[in-house]
Amino acid sequence: MKNKFDIIIIGAGAGGLNIAGFMNSAGFNVLLIDKTDKNIGGDCLNFGCVPSKALIHSARSIYQAKQITDFGLEINGQVNFSKIKQYIKDKQDAIRVHENADYFSKKGMTVVFGEASFVSKDEVAVKGVIYSAKKIILATGLSPRKLDLPGIDKVKVYNNENIFDIEKLPSELLIIGGGPIGIEIAQAFNYLGSRVSIVQNTDLFLNKEDKDISSILLKQLKKEGINFYCNYKTESFFSEKEIVVTNKDGQKEKVGFDTLFVAIGREAKLDSLNLENAGIEMDGHRIKVDKYLRTTNKNILLVGDIAGNYQFTHAAELHSSIILNNFFSPFKKSFSFGEMPWVTYTYPEIATFGFGEDYLKTNNLKYEVLSNDFSHNDRAIVDNYPPSLVKLFVHKGKLFGGTMIAPNAGELIQELILVTQQKLNLKKLFNKTYPYPTATRINRETISTYFSSKLTAGNKKILRRLFH
Ligand SMILES: Cc1cc2nc3c(=O)[nH]c(=O)nc-3n(C[C@H](O)[C@H](O)[C@H](O)COP(=O)(O)OP(=O)(O)OC[C@H]3O[C@@H](n4cnc5c(N)ncnc54)[C@H](O)[C@@H]3O)c2cc1C
Repeated sequence: MKNKFDIIIIGAGAGGLNIAGFMNSAGFNVLLIDKTDKNIGGDCLNFGCVPSKALIHSARSIYQAKQITDFGLEINGQVNFSKIKQYIKDKQDAIRVHENADYFSKKGMTVVFGEASFVSKDEVAVKGVIYSAKKIILATGLSPRKLDLPGIDKVKVYNNENIFDIEKLPSELLIIGGGPIGIEIAQAFNYLGSRVSIVQNTDLFLNKEDKDISSILLKQLKKEGINFYCNYKTESFFSEKEIVVTNKDGQKEKVGFDTLFVAIGREAKLDSLNLENAGIEMDGHRIKVDKYLRTTNKNILLVGDIAGNYQFTHAAELHSSIILNNFFSPFKKSFSFGEMPWVTYTYPEIATFGFGEDYLKTNNLKYEVLSNDFSHNDRAIVDNYPPSLVKLFVHKGKLFGGTMIAPNAGELIQELILVTQQKLNLKKLFNKTYPYPTATRINRETISTYFSSKLTAGNKKILRRLFH
Protein backbone atom coordinates (compact mmCIF):
# COMPACT_ATOMS: atom_id res chain seq x y z
CA MET A 1 0.00 0.00 0.00
CA LYS A 2 1.26 3.50 -0.88
CA ASN A 3 0.94 5.06 2.57
CA LYS A 4 2.62 2.20 4.41
CA PHE A 5 6.26 2.76 5.41
CA ASP A 6 8.97 0.93 7.36
CA ILE A 7 9.55 4.01 9.46
CA ILE A 8 7.94 7.43 9.90
CA ILE A 9 9.97 10.32 11.23
CA ILE A 10 8.06 13.30 12.60
CA GLY A 11 10.35 16.33 12.66
CA ALA A 12 13.26 16.92 10.27
CA GLY A 13 15.69 18.45 12.77
CA ALA A 14 19.05 17.11 13.94
CA GLY A 15 17.56 13.97 15.52
CA GLY A 16 15.02 13.09 12.85
CA LEU A 17 17.40 13.63 9.94
CA ASN A 18 20.05 11.35 11.41
CA ILE A 19 17.67 8.41 11.65
CA ALA A 20 15.98 9.16 8.32
CA GLY A 21 19.35 9.39 6.54
CA PHE A 22 20.64 6.07 7.83
CA MET A 23 17.39 4.14 7.35
CA ASN A 24 17.02 5.47 3.82
CA SER A 25 20.58 4.59 2.83
CA ALA A 26 20.08 1.11 4.31
CA GLY A 27 17.19 0.58 1.89
CA PHE A 28 14.19 1.10 4.18
CA ASN A 29 11.03 2.89 3.16
CA VAL A 30 11.21 6.23 4.99
CA LEU A 31 8.54 8.90 5.43
CA LEU A 32 9.90 12.22 6.69
CA ILE A 33 7.38 14.79 7.97
CA ASP A 34 7.91 18.43 8.86
CA LYS A 35 5.69 21.49 8.97
CA THR A 36 7.16 23.19 5.86
CA ASP A 37 10.20 22.95 3.61
CA LYS A 38 11.69 25.91 5.51
CA ASN A 39 11.52 23.98 8.79
CA ILE A 40 13.77 21.22 7.48
CA GLY A 41 17.01 21.28 9.46
CA GLY A 42 14.99 22.09 12.58
CA ASP A 43 16.06 24.57 15.22
CA CYS A 44 19.76 23.98 14.73
CA LEU A 45 19.82 25.16 11.12
CA ASN A 46 16.97 27.66 11.19
CA PHE A 47 16.80 29.27 14.64
CA GLY A 48 19.61 27.84 16.73
CA CYS A 49 23.20 26.68 16.39
CA VAL A 50 23.90 27.79 12.82
CA PRO A 51 22.52 31.36 12.84
CA SER A 52 23.78 31.96 16.39
CA LYS A 53 27.27 30.73 15.61
CA ALA A 54 27.39 32.76 12.37
CA LEU A 55 26.29 35.85 14.33
CA ILE A 56 28.92 35.13 16.99
CA HIS A 57 31.60 34.74 14.32
CA SER A 58 30.83 38.10 12.72
CA ALA A 59 30.47 39.89 16.07
CA ARG A 60 33.73 38.45 17.38
CA SER A 61 35.56 39.41 14.17
CA ILE A 62 34.44 43.00 14.75
CA TYR A 63 35.48 42.88 18.40
CA GLN A 64 38.90 41.47 17.50
CA ALA A 65 39.34 44.04 14.74
CA LYS A 66 38.83 46.75 17.37
CA GLN A 67 41.72 45.26 19.42
CA ILE A 68 44.04 45.99 16.50
CA THR A 69 44.42 49.55 17.78
CA ASP A 70 46.85 47.99 20.30
CA PHE A 71 49.22 47.62 17.34
CA GLY A 72 48.75 51.16 16.09
CA LEU A 73 46.13 50.59 13.39
CA GLU A 74 42.99 52.72 13.67
CA ILE A 75 39.60 51.26 12.70
CA ASN A 76 36.79 53.61 11.76
CA GLY A 77 33.27 53.07 10.51
CA GLN A 78 29.93 51.66 11.55
CA VAL A 79 28.74 48.08 11.63
CA ASN A 80 26.55 47.34 8.61
CA PHE A 81 23.95 45.12 10.26
CA SER A 82 22.31 44.06 7.01
CA LYS A 83 25.68 42.59 5.90
CA ILE A 84 25.78 40.58 9.13
CA LYS A 85 22.26 39.28 8.50
CA GLN A 86 23.28 38.38 4.95
CA TYR A 87 26.33 36.53 6.28
CA ILE A 88 24.10 34.49 8.60
CA LYS A 89 21.66 33.72 5.78
CA ASP A 90 24.49 32.70 3.41
CA LYS A 91 25.83 30.22 5.95
CA GLN A 92 22.37 28.74 6.51
CA ASP A 93 21.88 28.46 2.74
CA ALA A 94 25.22 26.67 2.38
CA ILE A 95 23.94 23.96 4.76
CA ARG A 96 20.43 23.95 3.23
CA VAL A 97 21.98 22.65 -0.01
CA HIS A 98 21.97 19.20 1.60
CA GLU A 99 19.10 19.78 4.06
CA ASN A 100 15.96 20.31 1.97
CA ALA A 101 12.99 18.29 0.78
CA ASP A 102 14.17 18.06 -2.83
CA TYR A 103 17.52 16.69 -1.77
CA PHE A 104 15.96 14.03 0.48
CA SER A 105 13.32 13.09 -2.14
CA LYS A 106 16.07 12.55 -4.72
CA LYS A 107 17.80 10.27 -2.22
CA GLY A 108 14.64 8.16 -2.10
CA MET A 109 12.72 9.37 0.97
CA THR A 110 9.10 10.41 0.90
CA VAL A 111 8.78 13.92 2.33
CA VAL A 112 5.44 15.44 3.31
CA PHE A 113 4.64 18.82 4.82
CA GLY A 114 2.13 19.62 7.52
CA GLU A 115 1.59 19.09 11.24
CA ALA A 116 1.53 15.42 12.06
CA SER A 117 -0.82 13.93 14.64
CA PHE A 118 -1.37 10.37 15.83
CA VAL A 119 -4.48 8.52 14.72
CA SER A 120 -3.70 5.14 16.28
CA LYS A 121 -0.80 3.10 17.66
CA ASP A 122 0.92 2.93 14.27
CA GLU A 123 -0.79 5.62 12.20
CA VAL A 124 -0.14 9.31 11.71
CA ALA A 125 -2.26 11.88 9.86
CA VAL A 126 -0.94 14.86 7.92
CA LYS A 127 -3.47 17.19 6.26
CA GLY A 128 -6.10 14.44 6.34
CA VAL A 129 -3.89 11.75 4.78
CA ILE A 130 -3.10 8.73 6.95
CA TYR A 131 0.32 7.06 6.94
CA SER A 132 1.35 3.96 8.87
CA ALA A 133 4.64 2.34 9.85
CA LYS A 134 6.08 -0.35 12.12
CA LYS A 135 8.28 2.20 13.89
CA ILE A 136 7.63 5.90 14.42
CA ILE A 137 10.22 8.42 15.58
CA LEU A 138 9.02 11.52 17.37
CA ALA A 139 11.64 14.23 16.87
CA THR A 140 9.58 17.39 17.18
CA GLY A 141 11.98 19.39 19.36
CA LEU A 142 11.08 22.22 21.73
CA SER A 143 9.88 25.81 21.46
CA PRO A 144 10.93 28.91 23.38
CA ARG A 145 9.05 29.26 26.70
CA LYS A 146 6.87 32.38 26.74
CA LEU A 147 7.32 35.12 29.32
CA ASP A 148 4.00 35.69 31.04
CA LEU A 149 4.05 39.12 32.71
CA PRO A 150 1.48 41.89 33.10
CA GLY A 151 1.77 44.33 30.19
CA ILE A 152 3.68 41.99 27.85
CA ASP A 153 0.91 42.16 25.24
CA LYS A 154 2.09 45.71 24.38
CA VAL A 155 5.73 44.67 23.92
CA LYS A 156 7.41 43.28 20.80
CA VAL A 157 9.13 40.14 22.09
CA TYR A 158 12.10 38.52 20.37
CA ASN A 159 13.26 34.96 20.94
CA ASN A 160 15.55 32.62 19.02
CA GLU A 161 12.89 32.16 16.33
CA ASN A 162 12.83 35.82 15.22
CA ILE A 163 15.99 37.53 16.54
CA PHE A 164 18.05 36.60 13.47
CA ASP A 165 15.51 38.42 11.28
CA ILE A 166 15.49 41.61 13.35
CA GLU A 167 15.35 44.74 11.14
CA LYS A 168 18.09 46.82 12.71
CA LEU A 169 20.81 46.57 15.32
CA PRO A 170 19.21 47.19 18.75
CA SER A 171 20.57 50.21 20.63
CA GLU A 172 19.41 48.97 24.03
CA LEU A 173 18.96 45.22 24.17
CA LEU A 174 17.41 43.75 27.30
CA ILE A 175 17.79 40.00 27.71
CA ILE A 176 15.65 38.06 30.16
CA GLY A 177 17.39 34.80 31.04
CA GLY A 178 21.07 34.09 31.66
CA GLY A 179 21.30 30.60 30.19
CA PRO A 180 23.62 29.76 27.30
CA ILE A 181 21.24 31.18 24.64
CA GLY A 182 20.85 34.51 26.48
CA ILE A 183 24.56 34.83 27.23
CA GLU A 184 25.76 34.03 23.70
CA ILE A 185 23.30 36.52 22.20
CA ALA A 186 24.26 39.14 24.82
CA GLN A 187 27.96 39.03 24.04
CA ALA A 188 27.42 39.00 20.27
CA PHE A 189 25.17 42.09 20.27
CA ASN A 190 27.44 43.84 22.77
CA TYR A 191 30.36 43.32 20.38
CA LEU A 192 28.26 44.72 17.54
CA GLY A 193 27.62 47.90 19.52
CA SER A 194 24.25 47.40 21.30
CA ARG A 195 24.04 48.39 24.97
CA VAL A 196 23.13 45.08 26.60
CA SER A 197 21.54 44.28 29.96
CA ILE A 198 20.67 40.84 31.32
CA VAL A 199 18.11 40.04 34.01
CA GLN A 200 18.72 36.72 35.73
CA ASN A 201 16.72 35.42 38.69
CA THR A 202 19.67 33.70 40.44
CA ASP A 203 23.06 34.90 41.82
CA LEU A 204 25.02 33.68 38.87
CA PHE A 205 24.12 32.73 35.32
CA LEU A 206 24.91 29.55 33.31
CA ASN A 207 23.77 27.52 36.31
CA LYS A 208 24.88 24.17 34.85
CA GLU A 209 28.50 25.34 34.79
CA ASP A 210 31.13 25.11 37.52
CA LYS A 211 30.93 28.34 39.57
CA ASP A 212 34.70 29.06 39.35
CA ILE A 213 34.34 28.97 35.57
CA SER A 214 31.12 30.98 35.19
CA SER A 215 32.37 33.69 37.55
CA ILE A 216 35.41 34.22 35.28
CA LEU A 217 33.04 34.73 32.37
CA LEU A 218 30.83 37.04 34.43
CA LYS A 219 33.84 39.27 35.19
CA GLN A 220 34.85 39.31 31.53
CA LEU A 221 31.35 40.18 30.29
CA LYS A 222 31.05 42.97 32.87
CA LYS A 223 34.45 44.29 31.77
CA GLU A 224 33.20 44.33 28.18
CA GLY A 225 30.28 46.52 29.27
CA ILE A 226 27.32 44.15 29.74
CA ASN A 227 25.05 45.24 32.54
CA PHE A 228 23.90 42.41 34.86
CA TYR A 229 20.84 42.28 37.06
CA CYS A 230 21.61 39.01 38.90
CA ASN A 231 19.13 37.86 41.54
CA TYR A 232 16.39 40.11 40.11
CA LYS A 233 12.82 39.03 39.39
CA THR A 234 10.84 40.41 36.49
CA GLU A 235 7.58 41.99 37.76
CA SER A 236 5.69 43.66 34.93
CA PHE A 237 6.07 45.95 31.95
CA PHE A 238 5.68 49.60 32.87
CA SER A 239 5.46 50.54 29.18
CA GLU A 240 6.39 48.99 25.85
CA LYS A 241 9.99 50.10 26.46
CA GLU A 242 10.39 49.60 30.23
CA ILE A 243 10.27 46.62 32.55
CA VAL A 244 9.97 46.66 36.34
CA VAL A 245 12.37 44.31 38.13
CA THR A 246 12.78 43.59 41.86
CA ASN A 247 16.00 42.75 43.69
CA LYS A 248 16.24 40.20 46.50
CA ASP A 249 15.43 42.89 49.11
CA GLY A 250 12.19 43.71 47.31
CA GLN A 251 13.40 47.02 45.86
CA LYS A 252 11.88 47.81 42.48
CA GLU A 253 13.74 49.28 39.53
CA LYS A 254 12.74 50.25 35.99
CA VAL A 255 14.98 49.03 33.17
CA GLY A 256 14.60 50.59 29.72
CA PHE A 257 15.13 48.88 26.36
CA ASP A 258 14.35 49.26 22.70
CA THR A 259 14.57 45.50 22.04
CA LEU A 260 13.53 42.68 24.36
CA PHE A 261 15.00 39.19 23.92
CA VAL A 262 13.52 36.41 26.04
CA ALA A 263 15.45 33.17 26.65
CA ILE A 264 13.89 31.64 29.77
CA GLY A 265 13.91 28.01 28.71
CA ARG A 266 12.34 25.73 26.18
CA GLU A 267 9.23 23.55 26.29
CA ALA A 268 7.46 20.94 24.21
CA LYS A 269 4.30 21.80 22.33
CA LEU A 270 2.48 18.50 22.26
CA ASP A 271 -1.23 19.33 22.02
CA SER A 272 -1.68 18.86 18.28
CA LEU A 273 0.14 15.49 18.26
CA ASN A 274 -2.80 13.62 19.91
CA LEU A 275 -0.37 11.37 21.76
CA GLU A 276 -3.17 9.57 23.60
CA ASN A 277 -4.33 8.01 20.29
CA ALA A 278 -0.99 6.20 20.11
CA GLY A 279 -0.95 5.07 23.75
CA ILE A 280 1.87 7.48 24.62
CA GLU A 281 1.72 8.39 28.31
CA MET A 282 2.97 11.57 29.96
CA ASP A 283 5.10 12.07 33.06
CA GLY A 284 3.99 15.56 34.12
CA HIS A 285 4.75 17.88 31.20
CA ARG A 286 7.12 15.37 29.61
CA ILE A 287 6.56 12.26 27.56
CA LYS A 288 7.34 9.09 29.56
CA VAL A 289 10.50 7.57 28.08
CA ASP A 290 12.70 4.63 29.09
CA LYS A 291 16.48 4.35 28.90
CA TYR A 292 16.18 2.92 25.36
CA LEU A 293 14.30 6.11 24.36
CA ARG A 294 11.03 4.18 23.91
CA THR A 295 7.71 5.74 24.88
CA THR A 296 4.97 3.69 26.56
CA ASN A 297 4.19 2.57 22.99
CA LYS A 298 7.39 0.56 22.40
CA ASN A 299 7.31 1.17 18.65
CA ILE A 300 7.34 4.95 19.06
CA LEU A 301 10.68 6.38 20.11
CA LEU A 302 11.89 9.83 21.08
CA VAL A 303 14.96 11.51 19.72
CA GLY A 304 16.52 14.94 20.34
CA ASP A 305 15.29 17.71 22.63
CA ILE A 306 11.89 16.11 23.13
CA ALA A 307 13.55 13.13 24.84
CA GLY A 308 13.96 15.54 27.77
CA ASN A 309 17.56 15.06 28.84
CA TYR A 310 20.11 17.27 27.05
CA GLN A 311 19.21 19.99 24.56
CA PHE A 312 22.08 19.74 22.09
CA THR A 313 22.46 18.73 18.47
CA HIS A 314 25.09 16.17 19.45
CA ALA A 315 22.70 14.76 22.10
CA ALA A 316 20.17 14.23 19.28
CA GLU A 317 22.93 12.50 17.30
CA LEU A 318 23.72 10.26 20.27
CA HIS A 319 20.02 9.38 20.68
CA SER A 320 19.89 8.46 16.99
CA SER A 321 22.88 6.18 17.22
CA ILE A 322 21.37 4.41 20.27
CA ILE A 323 18.05 3.90 18.48
CA LEU A 324 19.68 2.68 15.26
CA ASN A 325 21.90 0.28 17.20
CA ASN A 326 18.89 -1.13 19.03
CA PHE A 327 16.94 -1.64 15.79
CA PHE A 328 19.59 -4.03 14.51
CA SER A 329 21.87 -5.25 17.26
CA PRO A 330 21.17 -7.89 19.93
CA PHE A 331 23.48 -5.84 22.20
CA LYS A 332 21.15 -3.06 23.31
CA LYS A 333 22.52 0.38 24.10
CA SER A 334 20.86 2.72 26.55
CA PHE A 335 21.07 6.40 27.34
CA SER A 336 22.72 7.43 30.58
CA PHE A 337 23.08 10.86 32.13
CA GLY A 338 26.26 12.56 33.12
CA GLU A 339 28.75 12.13 30.34
CA MET A 340 27.49 14.63 27.78
CA PRO A 341 30.04 17.26 26.78
CA TRP A 342 28.90 20.76 25.77
CA VAL A 343 30.28 24.13 24.80
CA THR A 344 28.99 27.65 25.39
CA TYR A 345 30.29 29.77 22.55
CA THR A 346 31.22 32.95 24.37
CA TYR A 347 34.67 34.54 24.28
CA PRO A 348 36.37 32.90 26.07
CA GLU A 349 34.47 29.66 25.43
CA ILE A 350 33.29 27.37 28.20
CA ALA A 351 33.63 23.65 27.51
CA THR A 352 32.46 20.98 29.95
CA PHE A 353 32.65 17.19 29.81
CA GLY A 354 32.18 14.06 31.92
CA PHE A 355 31.12 14.27 35.55
CA GLY A 356 31.21 17.64 37.30
CA GLU A 357 32.16 18.32 40.91
CA ASP A 358 28.52 18.50 42.09
CA TYR A 359 27.85 15.00 40.74
CA LEU A 360 31.04 13.60 42.29
CA LYS A 361 30.21 15.11 45.68
CA THR A 362 26.58 13.97 45.63
CA ASN A 363 27.65 10.44 44.78
CA ASN A 364 30.44 10.38 47.39
CA LEU A 365 33.08 9.59 44.79
CA LYS A 366 36.73 10.20 45.65
CA TYR A 367 38.48 12.69 43.36
CA GLU A 368 41.25 15.26 43.19
CA VAL A 369 40.90 18.64 41.47
CA LEU A 370 43.69 19.72 39.15
CA SER A 371 43.34 23.35 38.21
CA ASN A 372 45.50 25.50 36.00
CA ASP A 373 44.99 29.12 34.99
CA PHE A 374 47.07 29.08 31.77
CA SER A 375 49.63 31.49 33.28
CA HIS A 376 52.45 29.11 32.24
CA ASN A 377 50.96 28.28 28.85
CA ASP A 378 53.14 30.06 26.30
CA ARG A 379 50.43 30.15 23.62
CA ALA A 380 48.12 31.92 26.10
CA ILE A 381 50.92 34.40 26.88
CA VAL A 382 51.86 35.28 23.29
CA ASP A 383 48.23 35.42 22.13
CA ASN A 384 47.20 37.54 25.14
CA TYR A 385 44.42 35.21 26.32
CA PRO A 386 41.69 36.64 28.51
CA PRO A 387 41.51 35.06 32.00
CA SER A 388 41.29 31.30 31.43
CA LEU A 389 41.10 28.22 33.64
CA VAL A 390 40.92 24.45 33.37
CA LYS A 391 39.67 22.18 36.15
CA LEU A 392 40.02 18.42 35.89
CA PHE A 393 38.53 15.85 38.27
CA VAL A 394 40.79 12.79 38.53
CA HIS A 395 41.16 9.64 40.57
CA LYS A 396 43.79 6.89 40.37
CA GLY A 397 45.02 7.98 36.94
CA LYS A 398 41.52 8.20 35.46
CA LEU A 399 39.66 11.34 34.41
CA PHE A 400 36.07 11.68 35.67
CA GLY A 401 35.44 14.94 33.81
CA GLY A 402 36.34 18.58 33.78
CA THR A 403 35.63 22.06 32.56
CA MET A 404 37.59 24.80 30.85
CA ILE A 405 37.18 28.47 30.05
CA ALA A 406 39.57 29.66 27.34
CA PRO A 407 39.50 30.79 23.71
CA ASN A 408 38.58 27.69 21.66
CA ALA A 409 38.07 25.60 24.81
CA GLY A 410 35.63 23.47 22.78
CA GLU A 411 38.54 22.34 20.59
CA LEU A 412 41.06 22.08 23.45
CA ILE A 413 38.98 19.58 25.44
CA GLN A 414 38.51 17.09 22.58
CA GLU A 415 41.32 14.78 23.70
CA LEU A 416 40.07 15.02 27.29
CA ILE A 417 36.64 13.83 26.15
CA LEU A 418 38.30 10.88 24.42
CA VAL A 419 40.28 9.93 27.52
CA THR A 420 37.14 10.21 29.72
CA GLN A 421 34.72 8.41 27.44
CA GLN A 422 37.15 5.61 26.56
CA LYS A 423 38.25 5.37 30.21
CA LEU A 424 41.92 5.69 29.21
CA ASN A 425 44.69 6.25 31.72
CA LEU A 426 45.89 9.85 31.96
CA LYS A 427 49.40 8.58 31.14
CA LYS A 428 48.22 8.41 27.49
CA LEU A 429 48.16 12.20 27.46
CA PHE A 430 51.21 12.58 29.65
CA ASN A 431 53.24 10.49 27.20
CA LYS A 432 51.96 12.31 24.12
CA THR A 433 54.25 14.75 22.26
CA TYR A 434 52.55 18.13 21.96
CA PRO A 435 53.97 20.55 19.40
CA TYR A 436 55.18 23.78 21.00
CA PRO A 437 53.54 26.27 21.56
CA THR A 438 50.04 24.89 21.06
CA ALA A 439 47.34 25.87 23.53
CA THR A 440 46.37 22.18 23.98
CA ARG A 441 49.60 21.70 25.92
CA ILE A 442 47.54 23.03 28.83
CA ASN A 443 46.14 19.50 29.16
CA ARG A 444 49.53 17.91 29.69
CA GLU A 445 50.76 20.81 31.81
CA THR A 446 47.80 20.23 34.14
CA ILE A 447 48.16 16.46 34.22
CA SER A 448 51.91 16.78 34.94
CA THR A 449 51.07 18.36 38.29
CA TYR A 450 49.12 15.19 39.12
CA PHE A 451 51.98 12.85 38.29
CA SER A 452 54.63 15.00 39.96
CA SER A 453 52.51 15.16 43.12
CA LYS A 454 52.65 11.35 43.20
CA LEU A 455 56.45 11.44 43.47
CA THR A 456 56.97 10.51 47.12
CA ALA A 457 60.27 10.84 48.99
CA GLY A 458 60.71 7.09 48.44
CA ASN A 459 60.17 7.41 44.67
CA LYS A 460 62.68 10.26 44.53
CA LYS A 461 65.27 8.13 46.38
CA ILE A 462 64.80 5.31 43.85
CA LEU A 463 65.19 7.76 40.96
CA ARG A 464 68.41 9.11 42.46
CA ARG A 465 69.78 5.59 42.84
CA LEU A 466 68.84 4.66 39.25
CA PHE A 467 70.43 7.89 37.96
CA HIS A 468 73.73 7.12 39.61
C1 LIG B 1 19.72 29.83 19.91
C2 LIG B 1 20.12 28.37 20.01
C3 LIG B 1 21.44 28.02 19.87
C4 LIG B 1 21.82 26.69 19.95
N1 LIG B 1 23.15 26.38 19.81
C5 LIG B 1 23.54 25.09 19.91
C6 LIG B 1 24.91 24.73 19.74
O1 LIG B 1 25.78 25.58 19.52
N2 LIG B 1 25.25 23.41 19.83
C7 LIG B 1 24.32 22.44 20.09
O2 LIG B 1 24.67 21.26 20.16
N3 LIG B 1 23.00 22.75 20.23
C8 LIG B 1 22.60 24.04 20.16
N4 LIG B 1 21.27 24.35 20.28
C9 LIG B 1 20.31 23.27 20.53
C10 LIG B 1 19.94 22.55 19.23
O3 LIG B 1 19.48 23.49 18.28
C11 LIG B 1 18.86 21.51 19.52
O4 LIG B 1 19.32 20.67 20.56
C12 LIG B 1 18.58 20.65 18.30
O5 LIG B 1 18.11 21.45 17.24
C13 LIG B 1 17.51 19.60 18.66
O6 LIG B 1 17.15 18.86 17.54
P1 LIG B 1 15.78 18.08 17.49
O7 LIG B 1 15.89 17.16 16.33
O8 LIG B 1 15.44 17.54 18.79
O9 LIG B 1 14.65 19.18 17.23
P2 LIG B 1 14.54 20.40 16.23
O10 LIG B 1 15.83 20.72 15.58
O11 LIG B 1 13.86 21.48 16.99
O12 LIG B 1 13.57 19.84 15.09
C14 LIG B 1 12.23 19.57 15.33
C15 LIG B 1 11.48 19.64 14.02
O13 LIG B 1 10.18 19.10 14.23
C16 LIG B 1 9.25 19.84 13.48
N5 LIG B 1 7.92 19.62 14.08
C17 LIG B 1 7.49 19.98 15.31
N6 LIG B 1 6.22 19.57 15.52
C18 LIG B 1 5.84 18.94 14.39
C19 LIG B 1 4.63 18.28 13.98
N7 LIG B 1 3.56 18.16 14.78
N8 LIG B 1 4.58 17.73 12.75
C20 LIG B 1 5.64 17.82 11.92
N9 LIG B 1 6.80 18.40 12.26
C21 LIG B 1 6.91 18.96 13.48
C22 LIG B 1 9.77 21.28 13.60
O14 LIG B 1 9.28 22.08 12.55
C23 LIG B 1 11.29 21.08 13.53
O15 LIG B 1 11.77 21.19 12.23
C24 LIG B 1 20.86 25.68 20.18
C25 LIG B 1 19.50 26.03 20.30
C26 LIG B 1 19.13 27.36 20.22
C27 LIG B 1 17.67 27.70 20.35
